[in-house]
Amino acid sequence: MTEVPPAPAGLRDLGHRIQTLFGIRRAVSLVWACAPGWTLAGGILIVLQGILPLATLYVLKLIIDTVTTGIAAGPLEGSFGAILPLLIIFCVLLLVTILSRSLSNYISEAQSAFTTDHVQEIIHAKSIEVDLEYYENPTYYDAFYRAQAEAPARPTRIVNGLVQVGQSAITLCATLILLVSFSWTLAVLLLAAVAPVAYVRWKYADIEYQWKKSRTSKERESYYFHWMLTGDSHAKEIRLFNLGRRFIERYRDLRTYIRQEHLSISRKKVIADILAQSFAVLALFISFLFIAYNAVNGSITLGDLVLYFGLIQQSQSFMNTLLSGLAGLYEDTIFLTNLYEFLDLRPKVMEPERPLPVPMPVTTGISFDHVHFRYPESESLTLTDVNLMIPAGKTVALVGENGSGKTTLIKLLCRLYDPESGRITLDGNDIRMFRTLDLRKEISIIFQDYARYNLTAWENIAFGSGGQPVDHDQVVKAAEASGADSVIDQLDQRYETTLGKLFEKGAELSIGEWQKIALARAFIRDAQLIVMDEPTSSLDPLAEAEVLRKLKKISEGRTTVIISHRLSSVRAADRIFFLEAGRIVEEGTHDELIARKGRYARLYETQALQYR
Ligand code: ADP
Repeated sequence: MTEVPPAPAGLRDLGHRIQTLFGIRRAVSLVWACAPGWTLAGGILIVLQGILPLATLYVLKLIIDTVTTGIAAGPLEGSFGAILPLLIIFCVLLLVTILSRSLSNYISEAQSAFTTDHVQEIIHAKSIEVDLEYYENPTYYDAFYRAQAEAPARPTRIVNGLVQVGQSAITLCATLILLVSFSWTLAVLLLAAVAPVAYVRWKYADIEYQWKKSRTSKERESYYFHWMLTGDSHAKEIRLFNLGRRFIERYRDLRTYIRQEHLSISRKKVIADILAQSFAVLALFISFLFIAYNAVNGSITLGDLVLYFGLIQQSQSFMNTLLSGLAGLYEDTIFLTNLYEFLDLRPKVMEPERPLPVPMPVTTGISFDHVHFRYPESESLTLTDVNLMIPAGKTVALVGENGSGKTTLIKLLCRLYDPESGRITLDGNDIRMFRTLDLRKEISIIFQDYARYNLTAWENIAFGSGGQPVDHDQVVKAAEASGADSVIDQLDQRYETTLGKLFEKGAELSIGEWQKIALARAFIRDAQLIVMDEPTSSLDPLAEAEVLRKLKKISEGRTTVIISHRLSSVRAADRIFFLEAGRIVEEGTHDELIARKGRYARLYETQALQYR
């Protein structure tokens, strides 16, 4: 097979640029979708504003011509009657120009506001739709950061850019038509003058984009230091370990590096721009000479001289506006590709086409059959040939060292990821056959890194219902079950108290107290399956014993999976699975595993020794 030779670099570059400009269409349709009325009104004003300067200039020419012919003809009074209506038209045009400018400012502000909010909404919707993997992978996260940081403002800038480009393009076209009617050479000369300026702007838009893209990770890193220095989560350690100065220096070094690179590009751009503009001024000078010569010659009137001088000046300024507008549009569009990339992501965890109803109640249980799993971009398997059965109504424990794959197993069970091979079934049906929402509704879960919502205690617990309406009794019952009730009783406004220190009047809780709140959130859901990932890790032994006792009561008749590295808290489980490096290496009841004198027994013995 013969390979198609690659296109020459220049052509590829042009193709890339044209493709990028097509991206403008998507931005415009985005803006249109946000506020069609405003966009239409803005469009009409663009045309109006494009024509107004020329009309004003033309009326000025007419006034001057009328005055000069009047002066030549004799007494001024005769021509004054002819000038008056022209003056009135001139003033009306000025007034309309001012009005349309103000109106267009307002419209573009309204459009910006609508677009920014709309784009933010799209980003939020997509953020909850994309797979968890997106948040757990630095490469993706860079792209996400770029999309997030730039996206809300960019479409608005595109709108403003389009206004700028549209307006100047209209004026420019009309100006060139008028100029061409006077002299072809002049029009061509002016266009040629602007070519170097165009080239410089275009080229630097690309250079800046590439540079901004390449500095994303440095930018994120500097933001990380800023976040640590200014946030509350690291404030204690920063003081105790005296890390402040060091972090400030790290931040400063990163910013200096970024700033120096940026300024070096800006310097080169300014120099190139000055050279290109000087060339344009030269062309302008020749044009002026040409027109002045014709006026002195008598081949054009004084009004024409003013008109052409005005046209040339205007064409220069509008050409500049057009070019910077186009360069800006080009830059904005390439930036938006980050957003499009993000918006075009399709979740890998797919919904079934014909979903099955989740069994009510589950009769057999959950089964992992030869499940293999690796995290995206990870070389080795995190779970290897996992086979386990979680019988309906029973309590199963997963134990093993840190990093052995226990949480990963749970993530698969909740369909935050899908296995690479093998399957997970619920009453014999692959869990991929259920809608994720239906499946997750049947799982009450507390993760090791549970969320701490800086919202009211009531909301913190009620969120566990997954959107189902809950009444006060249910919230109180869940709080009692997890022991959160005694924490809440001490708060000023009890369930209405805002938790955390982010907002005014927020009450900060200890880690153990937060954990009780998170447990209550898991308990409020009337789900068939309860999953507890280290549910008592931050609790003191007394509280732990209490929670375990309550958990036992709550999980009566329900299928329960409990993960813990404290073996004392899982000994009552119906079945215990011991994981090591992603494999199940032992399974049985506590007594069976102790009798086996294997890894479980050794770990149990080690932990028991610590208490003696
Ligand atoms: P456990 O819950 O038993 O402590 P995990 O299931 O959290 O263990 O992790 C198992 C292994 O998978 C660890 O080696 C961990 O580094 C790796 N891992 C966990 N999350 C990710 C991720 N998002 N991307 C890549 N590797 C991961």
